[in-house]
Amino acid sequence: MQQTVFACNECDYLIQIEDIPSGHVASCPRCHHHILHRKVNSINRTVAISASGLLLFLPATFYPLMSMKILSLESSASLFSGMIALWQSELFLVASLVFIFCIFTPFIKLMAAFIICLGLKLNYQKDSWYKQLLLFYHKVDSWEMLEVFMVGILVSIFKLNGMADLSLNIGLLCFAALMLCVIALKVTLDKPLIWDKIDNG
Ligand SMILES: [Zn+2]
Repeated sequence: MQQTVFACNECDYLIQIEDIPSGHVASCPRCHHHILHRKVNSINRTVAISASGLLLFLPATFYPLMSMKILSLESSASLFSGMIALWQSELFLVASLVFIFCIFTPFIKLMAAFIICLGLKLNYQKDSWYKQLLLFYHKVDSWEMLEVFMVGILVSIFKLNGMADLSLNIGLLCFAALMLCVIALKVTLDKPLIWDKIDNG
C-alpha cells in the first residue's frame, strides 16, 4: 500500500500515512492535530455541487437581484448590469473588483472543480493540465468574495427599506444559492485525495 509522508502543521512531526478510508481522520501521534481528513464521497459530491453552481451562475449574474420603485420611477439591477453601471460611472476599480471577486473567480473555481472531478470520476486520461487546473484553483481559492457582496446587498435592502418600494427578484435567490454552492465546494473538495489520484492514477 502506498505511504505518504506528512508534516504536522502544529508540531512539525513527520508521519507516514497509508491511504485512509473516506470519512476517517489521521491525527498526529504527538499533539493529536488532524493531519489528513478523507472527506466522504468527495468526488461525487463535488461534481454535483459544482454542476449546480454552474447552472445557477447565469441567472445569478444576469437576472435582476432586486427592483426599486420611488414615486413613479422603477428600476432593477442585476449583478452584471450593476458592474456595468459602476464602470460607466468611472468607478473602474470597484467595477473591476466586482468582476474579479463576484463573477470571474467563482466561475473559474466551479468550472475547475467540475472538470477535474468529473474527469477523475469517468477515468479520463489524466493529462498534466489536470495539475495545472488544480494549481490554478489553489491560486484563486481565496479570491472569491460572494459573501461580502451578499452582505452589501442585505445592508442596501435594510437601508432602502422605507425609502422606496423594494421587491426581491429571482436573481437574488439564484445568487444566494450560488454563494452556498461555492461555500459547499470548500467543504466537499478533498484536494489531497485529488493530488493522490492525479499522481497515482
Ligand atoms: Zn503534531
